[in-house]
Amino acid sequence: MTNNDNKGSLLGELKACSNCNNAFMAKPGETVCSNCIALEKRKKELSRGVNEWKEELEGSIKEMKHQIEQIQSKKEMFLQRIKNRSSLVKESIELLKKIDETQDEKYIDEYKALFEKMKNQNE
Ligand SMILES: [Zn+2]
Repeated sequence: MTNNDNKGSLLGELKACSNCNNAFMAKPGETVCSNCIALEKRKKELSRGVNEWKEELEGSIKEMKHQIEQIQSKKEMFLQRIKNRSSLVKESIELLKKIDETQDEKYIDEYKALFEKMKNQNE
């Protein structure tokens, strides 16, 4: 390889860019101008940025859904507990009424059992 060949390959030859058709000095093997290469690189960076952002967003949406599910299952649990408790209270009021009306030993035993159940629920 002579000095002249070297110089020639560094300068390249005038070609039309295969992408934008603008004339540019192409080094051997080059078919796209430096503007288009830079543009392509920028586009890739942008789409990578968008993809990363999308993944981040999807991740945080997933996390939020998970938290909502947890809150809902806790809410369900509390609602169920309130329902259980209020039905026990209702039951106990009815029993107290029956005890008051009948003085029946049977209802007093039932009330004692119910009272134990309520005590356990509060724990
Ligand atoms: Zn170009």
